[in-house]
Amino acid sequence: MEDYRGVWVFIEVNDEKNIEGVSLELLGAGRELADKLNVPLAGVLLGDEISGLANHVIYSGADIVYMVDHPVLKQYRTEAYMKAVTLLAEKYKPEIFLYGATPNGKDLASAIATDLSTGLTADTTMLDIDLEKRLLEASRPAFGGNIMATILCKKHRPQMATVRPKVMKALDLDYSRIGQIIEEELIIREEDMRTKVLEVVKDVTKRANLSDAHVIVAGGKGLGDMHGFQLIHELAETIGASVGGTRDAIEAGWLPHELQIGQTGETVTPKVYFAIGISGAIQHVVGMKNSEIIIAINKDSNAPIFDVATYGIVGDAHEVIPKLIEQFKTMSE
Ligand code: FAD
Repeated sequence: MEDYRGVWVFIEVNDEKNIEGVSLELLGAGRELADKLNVPLAGVLLGDEISGLANHVIYSGADIVYMVDHPVLKQYRTEAYMKAVTLLAEKYKPEIFLYGATPNGKDLASAIATDLSTGLTADTTMLDIDLEKRLLEASRPAFGGNIMATILCKKHRPQMATVRPKVMKALDLDYSRIGQIIEEELIIREEDMRTKVLEVVKDVTKRANLSDAHVIVAGGKGLGDMHGFQLIHELAETIGASVGGTRDAIEAGWLPHELQIGQTGETVTPKVYFAIGISGAIQHVVGMKNSEIIIAINKDSNAPIFDVATYGIVGDAHEVIPKLIEQFKTMSE
């Protein structure tokens, strides 16, 4: 175990050859862990013609970039990425390895955990270090969000975790940072790959809009029915906001699944979040509590949503929303 040193972050690159936001957030979180352990922070950068991104990884907090630039890695495929990352991990032996909890990040992390026979904590929302034992403390909501479970990987290395996007904070870019870029040769041939990418079909859903939205109007079961939920759309349209909802609103069929906010939906961090007719169950709150301003409207003054709200309006949504719409319209005239 003593041979394993250093904190690694898997750098996810999208089709437009940009680094995914979650990887930059993980460099921020990884920097803190690496400083506590007094070890270097490394980014693992894979892809085809991605060498131009290596410096960005350093400006974002890394000391080292392990890079494999190869046509086989042009698009994400479990087999090719798993082989490349496993080879690097076996050679350089990191003690901690973090991935974004994105579809590709989760897929890769679980494949690597199997290949390296080590542990993986999925969907973590908090990371810390037990310095004395050099153990990663990876915490995530458990039992329906009622408790936070802290999971340790005591007997195997690297200690691995996937981390939810938008939970950690990226560092400001520091162009004066200097680091080491280590390019590795990859002995993987296209002919050996069992899967081929024949076509990429993009499904443009409203999900992307929601996670990038500056203002969100979210509605819950308190709107009563589909007709009542129309008020949420009307308010959102008036102020140019995106619409989201609770699981109960989605299950009632008032909104499509991809607009669910919370533990089993999207995590959002807009500047303004309207929570209307939403009780404030922990599973919803974990997905929106980092919004800058939270405005809650609920007819029950004891609703838990008021505990996280910046401003609270106690009242019937069916009366309050039309008044807000009217007011916003007057203001914009
Ligand atoms: P309710 O809890 O029924 O609240 C309705 C609120 O509206 C009440 O506070 C009421 O006072 C108020 N109200 C009623 N009428 C009016 C009115 N006329 N005007 C104003 N206010 C009114 N939930 C999520 O949202 N996202 C998740 O990702 C998620 N994941 C989950 C995962 C698990 C494993 C589990 C067990 C649950 C999950 N849930 C999730 C469900 C969660 O526990 C709650 O059941 C859900 O968030 C409640 O939705 P709600 O606030 O719309 O409804």
